[in-house]
Amino acid sequence: NKFEQLGLNESLLLAIKDLGFENPSEVQEKAIPVLLEQNTDLVALAQTGTGKTAAFGFPLIQKIDAEDRSTQALILSPTRELCLQITNEIKQYSKYVKGLHTVAVYGGASITDQAREIKRGAQVIVATPGRMQDMINRGLVNIKNINFCILDEADEMLNMGFYDDIVSILSDTPDEKKTWLFSATMPAEVARIAKKFMADPVEITV
Ligand code: AMP
Repeated sequence: NKFEQLGLNESLLLAIKDLGFENPSEVQEKAIPVLLEQNTDLVALAQTGTGKTAAFGFPLIQKIDAEDRSTQALILSPTRELCLQITNEIKQYSKYVKGLHTVAVYGGASITDQAREIKRGAQVIVATPGRMQDMINRGLVNIKNINFCILDEADEMLNMGFYDDIVSILSDTPDEKKTWLFSATMPAEVARIAKKFMADPVEITV
């Protein structure tokens, strides 16, 4: 199994087996060893459908401390649909990691329910930028100590007008966190975010 050679632990390998994934996709093969071995920022140019959720999800799950209930990672995604899809995938990938909790945060659903779920202890928050900003403004979430921030479909988020929200959210996270940015294209606004918030990122193209 080629997933074993990427450095993934037993809990992840078991989940991968259950899912029936036989071989890593190209973006997984390129990103997973880098993210596991290096404490680095990453810029990955990858389309949807290439397996990018697992490319960041597997290393993220392996790096989370599931015994610590505090919020450790924020994944930003452009739409409610994608937010739910990523949450669902992360939950499947982490099914053998005891104590790891992932919460979806998006508009059009009860903010108090989402806040309650976070309060119970969620290490991973998957959010759309608008609702995330709303939660921060209301003091319902604390991302001041996160270790990882993932921007998924960064070009789409910026196309949808989330530049200001993203800048504001990222400004609320610690400088020491690592940022992993995934985008299908690299327009000027995405490059600006990368330049403003990332230090010497590893670059991957698939
Ligand atoms: P994504 O590009 O992350 O949206 O993934 C697209 C689809 O491919 C999802 O349904 C994943 O569950 C699936 N997938 C991801 N990685 C693999 C893999 N290595 N082998 C087979 N299917 C995969």
